[in-house]
Amino acid sequence: MQNIREKLDIHGPLLIEKIGSIVNPLLLSFKNETNRLLVFYFHGLFESQKQRGLNHVDPQNNMLVSQFSEFIDYFLNNKYKFIVPEDLDKNLQNDIPYAMISFDDGYFNNMLAIEVLNKYSIPAVFFITTLNVMENKSFWWDIIYKYRAKQGINIEAIRSEQRSLKSFKHPIIEDYIVQNFGIEAFKPWSEIDRPFNERELGVISKNPYVSIGNHTHNHSILTNYNREEIKDELSESNNILLNLTGRLPISTAYPNGNFNSLVLEVTEEVGFRYAFTTERRQNRLPFESRNLLCLNRYMTKTNNIRKFGSYCRLGYEPDLLYEDIKEKIMSHIKRKTY
Ligand SMILES: [Zn+2]
Repeated sequence: MQNIREKLDIHGPLLIEKIGSIVNPLLLSFKNETNRLLVFYFHGLFESQKQRGLNHVDPQNNMLVSQFSEFIDYFLNNKYKFIVPEDLDKNLQNDIPYAMISFDDGYFNNMLAIEVLNKYSIPAVFFITTLNVMENKSFWWDIIYKYRAKQGINIEAIRSEQRSLKSFKHPIIEDYIVQNFGIEAFKPWSEIDRPFNERELGVISKNPYVSIGNHTHNHSILTNYNREEIKDELSESNNILLNLTGRLPISTAYPNGNFNSLVLEVTEEVGFRYAFTTERRQNRLPFESRNLLCLNRYMTKTNNIRKFGSYCRLGYEPDLLYEDIKEKIMSHIKRKTY
């Protein structure tokens, strides 16, 4: 039984993808995409496969710069207009679809993205974790990945070690890194895994295609913290960003996408106008005011941006749709059994 379930979990989403590749182009030719905002989030970019192969960062959420260009081409060809949070304050036209590019964490390798943005003259928002910038510290999930990969540990074990730390506050995670890898582990290995430095952040913030957003001070998963701590994490990061860029961010992205009613309350108190989750759904325009602090975003970790883009434009992704179908079938079976 276990075996059948595992097989279904692998082949289910693949089957949905296969059907999608036939049906999606047809559906998209009839689809009215106005009054939609699709927000996508990226992490790092690699110049080449060779750079990716060095294992200096966790490659899971990272793409090649050529794939990033393909992504932009795809949405421009489909008449999407790229915007940033600042544009949401203005009146958006209701006869075109919108897309937003966001980069999380503040990797120096995002410079590669900025070159592409300049070339296409389109904007993106960069959500920055300020402590890593101030102290030139490698991100903890990358440390686990690069040290364990070097030790030859398999990827499932690495993922499970990373996951196991997500329910803790940052001092515990830091202790764990020091205990397991030594204090030196925080030192970046190269230009690939290091964060922006203060000066670079000041420079990029002057670029007309760059919007700077908040991503907390310690990359804190805010649902693990109390009211005061949440406020400190958001405000401290804001003060530093104001200092480095001359502007107070109007948006934040919750680390790991986690939020609850307390996080929403404090985010509003601190003064953010827009906040982004990692709920993989479209946003409908015009926004309802209660949604402004929990906007949906899609994670782009795919090699096939055409296929991925077509699913997002239809409002779903194969693995999520599979999970939905599975859940519905399971609850139907349960109802029948009782
Ligand atoms: Zn992050």
